[in-house]
Amino acid sequence: MRRNRKTKILATLGPASNTHEHIRTLFMAGADMFRINMSHTPHETLARLVGVVRRVETEVGRPIGILVDLQGPKLRLGKLPGGERMLETGGRIALVRSETSDDPDILPIPHAEIFAALKPGAFILIDDGKVRLKIDEISAQNMSATIVQGGMVKNHKGVNLPDTLLPIPALTAKDRSDLDYALSLDIDWIALSFVQRPDDVAELRKAVAGRAGVLAKIEKPSALLCLDEILELADAVMVARGDLGVELPLEDVPGWQKQITRAARRAGKPVVVATQMLESMITNPVPTRAEVSDVATAVFEGSDAVMLSAETASGAFPAEAVSVMDRIAKSVERGPLYRPIIEAQRMPPEPTMPDAILFAVHDVSNTINASAIVCWTKSGSTGLRGARERPQAPILALTPIRAMARRLTIVWGLHCVETEDAHDVDDVADRACRIAYQHEFAKLGDRVVVTAGLPLGTPGATNLLRVAIVTRKAIQS
Ligand code: PGA
Ligand code: MN
Repeated sequence: MRRNRKTKILATLGPASNTHEHIRTLFMAGADMFRINMSHTPHETLARLVGVVRRVETEVGRPIGILVDLQGPKLRLGKLPGGERMLETGGRIALVRSETSDDPDILPIPHAEIFAALKPGAFILIDDGKVRLKIDEISAQNMSATIVQGGMVKNHKGVNLPDTLLPIPALTAKDRSDLDYALSLDIDWIALSFVQRPDDVAELRKAVAGRAGVLAKIEKPSALLCLDEILELADAVMVARGDLGVELPLEDVPGWQKQITRAARRAGKPVVVATQMLESMITNPVPTRAEVSDVATAVFEGSDAVMLSAETASGAFPAEAVSVMDRIAKSVERGPLYRPIIEAQRMPPEPTMPDAILFAVHDVSNTINASAIVCWTKSGSTGLRGARERPQAPILALTPIRAMARRLTIVWGLHCVETEDAHDVDDVADRACRIAYQHEFAKLGDRVVVTAGLPLGTPGATNLLRVAIVTRKAIQS
């Protein structure tokens, strides 16, 4: 079973997609990897979902990635007297550092860090930015603010602080407990929400200790200021447009999407474009033209993956949403402008052996019109550097490590196959031909470009480029 598509699809699981049948249907419709959002998922549900995905994986015979998304330091209001309060634009409001408030004229915020870090003039956004407050005065316990944009506020609504760097750890107590539990299961990626600075990624990296890939969600303006440093520490990033669009002026988000995508592609790290991609499909079986265009833009930019959130987690048409995404990506990738656009954005190689080899792999595969590129990869690096070239030929990533085959499912263009390590250089070429043939990427007589690191099994030592012809002998070996 192969997908005729480079861009990957990441589908969030939830009440609308929590059975074996649902998950299998989403995979068949085109989902390459599944996301489980710990903001809404109890531990027992997480364990059950992981088990179901693994059963589907065995049935379909293809590796499937699982990403566990940690809530991160999400800030919320406390409990209001009467549950809600109307705020009039232009008026003023008091806030207190507390879980609750008895006075309807005082909003409770249960986060001491906010009172410690906010400065007069800074903004507080409530309920996805629907209400905007500007701080006038602040002490350790109280503040007063001008209501710049009024509206109804309710118990426990989310709070965003777009222009304040909070002195809080990257992982809350809930995140630590979710992380420990997730790592006891068979999962592939851990995503961290509200990354503010490179140290946050370092903290998660240390806690994960190599047991999963680390994905930094870019949704804070402060993270945009140190994107390259974050990319150095993370294994992947997400353009988390939901919260990013609350914290930044909405019109700035598309430009940042392009900048984050380019920076990630330059670093050779996977980038996922997320949130509201097919939002109207939560309730409708067909998307809007604007949504189709949004997905197409991410594909044209060479994003590794496009993501569905509520569309698949709680919407009425989860399989249709995946299938629409699949069709958009295929249509864009087959169109006459995709190749020229992708080639024009090709990143120069970094001065390393692997990049030198994979840069050449791209050119050799084009010149001889190879049916496939085959990367032998143990640490994942040869696969990633191959994908960084965004070549026209499909890339097979062969790895002896099941967890690596799953982890690489997020990466642009990679068809991952678990297979034992090659025993010698001939086996490197013969098995590459055989697997490319068996997985329907090459026919007898076709040429494939094979790359690996010698001595075999040395991580990150890519130094071999070989052109192999798919012969009867190779496919029977
Ligand atoms: P969320 O992250 O769905 O966990 O909020 C994505 C986003 O903010 O876009
Ligand atoms: Mn978010």
